[in-house]
Amino acid sequence: MQSLLEVDDVSVTFGAHKALDGVHITASQGHITGLIGPNGAGKSTLFDVVCGLRRPSSGSVRLGDENITRLGPAQRAKRGMARTFQGLELFGRLSVRDNLLVAAEMSRGRRQAGKLVDGVIESAQLEKYADRLADSLPTGVGRQVEVARALTTRPDIILLDEPAAGQDAEETERFAGILRKVAADGVAILLVEHDMELVMNVCDVVHVLDLGSIITSGPPDAVRQHSAVLDAYLGT
Ligand code: ADP
Ligand code: MG
Repeated sequence: MQSLLEVDDVSVTFGAHKALDGVHITASQGHITGLIGPNGAGKSTLFDVVCGLRRPSSGSVRLGDENITRLGPAQRAKRGMARTFQGLELFGRLSVRDNLLVAAEMSRGRRQAGKLVDGVIESAQLEKYADRLADSLPTGVGRQVEVARALTTRPDIILLDEPAAGQDAEETERFAGILRKVAADGVAILLVEHDMELVMNVCDVVHVLDLGSIITSGPPDAVRQHSAVLDAYLGT
């Protein structure tokens, strides 16, 4: 099966510093693809390249059959790419449902939005929070609503940058279940995450980035055994 997303031989330089050096990663529909690596490895830079916020110095990004390297974020969104925005807050005085409706009505018509939102609330398992004001949610649930909001655009691929930050162990567990459900619906998920346990727990494939290069890619069990991964994380 051809991957939905392919980042090929991407490099990004900041002055003399090479933040990414010949990076190759892929993500497929129905799969959760993890991207891990220590602080400063280049995860956020790669995330920005994938969503169109940063042009690579060289290399390409393909989505489906199309080379999207030169497209901006809005054009990528139109082609089925969604992401969560760190710090783009929910409307605190609106309910969870209304937060999703606002987002859905921007990308769909008003008529379709209600139905769509009901479906998203169900797949994100947020039924019991639907009528709560966003202000009143625990931080971790708020992060889950942000993911649900991105799902209202009906994306083929969703990009998540450190979504588990601020979630406690129980919320992270619930969140893992939500990600599995979303992937099972056929969405490709690219999960950039510091929480190695979450990544190892939910991902089908994991790419490990260190100092701007992919040091290994594969299923979690294989990646976990890789000596370079142990070195990158434990500094041995
Ligand atoms: P991560 O998300 O894995 O922690 P980043 O992608 O944020 O890593 O950063 C990778 C490297 O690129 C780091 O050395 C960082 O200091 C550098 N870097 C990131 N953004 C910029 C920028 N806008 N200008 C200069 N250097 C940057
Ligand atoms: Mg980062």
